[in-house]
Amino acid sequence: MEKSLVLIKPDGVYRALTGRIISRFEDAGFKITAMKMLIPERKLVEKHYDSLRRNDEWLNSVGSKLKGKDGISNKTERELGLTVWNQLVDYLSGKPIIAMVIEGNEVVSSIRKIVGSTEPKSAEPSSLRGSLSNDSYGLANANNRPIRNIIHASSSVSDAEEEINVWFKKEEILDYERADERIQYY
Ligand code: UDP
Ligand code: MG
Repeated sequence: MEKSLVLIKPDGVYRALTGRIISRFEDAGFKITAMKMLIPERKLVEKHYDSLRRNDEWLNSVGSKLKGKDGISNKTERELGLTVWNQLVDYLSGKPIIAMVIEGNEVVSSIRKIVGSTEPKSAEPSSLRGSLSNDSYGLANANNRPIRNIIHASSSVSDAEEEINVWFKKEEILDYERADERIQYY
């Protein structure tokens, strides 16, 4: 079965939304096979988001939302993107988060759907980000911080494999059968 890596970001933990978030994944039939609460050091978060730092398309797209904002217009979109990347790493470093491995049928894309799109303001209202948070690019940029959207979820099967290795050792991922697995899948 496919695996996804999900993080409940510090705003989700501080707002005491963890139980509701985890329930949504379990209710959809997905199996939690690893879970830990921790306060990650910056190095670990840097590793988690390393592929974004090396992704010029992401840096330019993030930077383009800031381009033209007073006082920073002399920087390139890529440089502005790198500033947001650093803020993003700060947002998760040294604060409590929950890391999970979740398994199930095409779980990566299904979890992205349940989580909703990056900006809570424009996320589907039935999604977790759309129903439990309301941040917007406008407010995040005005306050010089990254978007607060309560959850991270892997965006592809190969990203999930890399991200799982960042947060978990092989022996921390458990092998067990959910009581409804046969009813769901076989
Ligand atoms: N982010 C941001 N501004 C942007 C794009 C992303 O602050 O313009 C933050 C946001 O917290 C997001 C994270 O960077 O969750 C990772 O970005 P990605 O594009 O991977 O979004 P996600 O996969 O989390 O929806
Ligand atoms: Mg992503």
